[in-house]
Amino acid sequence: MRALYPGSFDPLTLGHLDLIERSAVLFDGLVVAVLQNPSKTPTFSLEQRLQQIRRATAHLQGVEVRSFDGLTVDVARACGAGVILRGLRAMSDFEFELQLAHTNKSLAPHLETLFLATAAHHSFLSSSVVKEVARFGGDVSHMVPQGVADDLVTLFNRLSPSC
Ligand code: ADP
Repeated sequence: MRALYPGSFDPLTLGHLDLIERSAVLFDGLVVAVLQNPSKTPTFSLEQRLQQIRRATAHLQGVEVRSFDGLTVDVARACGAGVILRGLRAMSDFEFELQLAHTNKSLAPHLETLFLATAAHHSFLSSSVVKEVARFGGDVSHMVPQGVADDLVTLFNRLSPSC
């Protein structure tokens, strides 16, 4: 069975990557789908996010990275995925994720949502936390893959005022 792991990945963290690595061995194929949301302005462009994930998952067999807009259930169908994969870090994720899972189930009854618990040492990680730390020059090397850490340095050096 193939699985779809959808998300914003703005940017990819080691929490996301851990989930990808663990699920890549559970399924025949895994599609990581990066959300292109026209009503949101992401920090990293779609192309940058795709490249960050492709670089970080290059060592994995059966992992494909693509973008999507529109409904997750439609992408899952187009990819031939029978499972939507999501991660749970804490109870605070649960309410929203459950609502999403029920919505998707109502739209596509044959599609299952599967939750993987985050690795405990990654449970504090979110894309926003990483950006907040990087914005003020903090070390994010234990939070994101090296390529993403480099992109964050470039981004915030460029944005920081010269005075
Ligand atoms: P979205 O905007 O769809 O929530 P995210 O990139 O924030 O996109 O998250 C994508 C998925 O990855 C979500 O299911 C989220 O719960 C999960 N996730 C985010 N951070 C972590 C982490 N540190 N460990 C495990 N799963 C995570």
